[in-house]
Amino acid sequence: MTGIVVKSTGSWYLVRETSTGKLHRCRLRGKFKNKNLKVSNPLAVGDQVDFTVEEQTEGAGVIHHIEPRRNYIIRRSVHKAEHAHIVAANLDQALLVVTLVSPATSFGFIDRFLVTAEAYSIPVTLIFNKTDLYDQDLSEYQDQVLKMYKRTGYPGLRCSAHSGEGVEEVDALLDGKVSLLSGHSGVGKSTLINALVPDLDLKTAEISEFSDKGVHTTTFAEMLEVRPGTYLIDTPGIKELGLVDIPPGQLAHFFPEMRALLNQCRYHNCQHVHEPGCAVREAVDKGKIALPRYDSYVSMLNDDDNRH
Ligand code: GDP
Ligand code: ZN
Repeated sequence: MTGIVVKSTGSWYLVRETSTGKLHRCRLRGKFKNKNLKVSNPLAVGDQVDFTVEEQTEGAGVIHHIEPRRNYIIRRSVHKAEHAHIVAANLDQALLVVTLVSPATSFGFIDRFLVTAEAYSIPVTLIFNKTDLYDQDLSEYQDQVLKMYKRTGYPGLRCSAHSGEGVEEVDALLDGKVSLLSGHSGVGKSTLINALVPDLDLKTAEISEFSDKGVHTTTFAEMLEVRPGTYLIDTPGIKELGLVDIPPGQLAHFFPEMRALLNQCRYHNCQHVHEPGCAVREAVDKGKIALPRYDSYVSMLNDDDNRH
């Protein structure tokens, strides 16, 4: 049978059978432990697998094949830098839920997320939630922010999980895809998931009944079915995508508006800060690259310098 991993707690995997939508508790056959990747988990939410359910194992399944991943995101352990685990695999897109007020998400956070998603080749749409709290000024500011990101290649939309504005558009974005939903805590992610996923309580209860038996759960990603073929991956407690190591000299490649200009700088190893003849800085001066985006670039560059 084929299926998709909807939750992983380390030793057990919850797999949704593709043809019936039925959930199965599965183990992984030992020989499929990861050889090539330096990660602590061989299987993650979103993985496509082949499994069999044998009668003598009382309905539990055995996974014996993992399809090659189209992509995956990893997370490094805070305690042990060399320890990383795969958070989710085979994502079609990421939706980053952000807010301009209550609380305000910083451009620095947004741009860091976008750079990481760029490195993973995962398209991102920005969902600006809590628009019901806007006054006229904020609403106009919102338009400018949306324009800035749209020009850069990142679509975005207004949404209010409370008033319902934009929720249908978000639903349409999800259709037929596997989407990762991310965002700082407090931006309204849970409220939005409630608005998007029918029978959410039932579904999460079903998932935890299967997967939490005897397991001390910390934070695990889980895949929620919006409807057959449309899935949302929630990563409770994880607000950022796992960082990818990007050498400072490469960082500008992950800003789409800078990428096109890089061969026009006077120096091939230009980092676009103090160097003369820099095409990126010229574009910033001319307003072709948005200042907040450039500021995020410089700030990420400095963070990186401090780490090394
Ligand atoms: P999460 O931490 O991202 O999961 O955020 P929650 O869904 O728990 O929401 C945090 C707070 O923001 C709660 O008090 C929600 O009621 C509130 N909230 C969520 N969505 C909206 C919205 O669209 N408008 C307003 N005004 N408040 C919202
Ligand atoms: Zn330059």
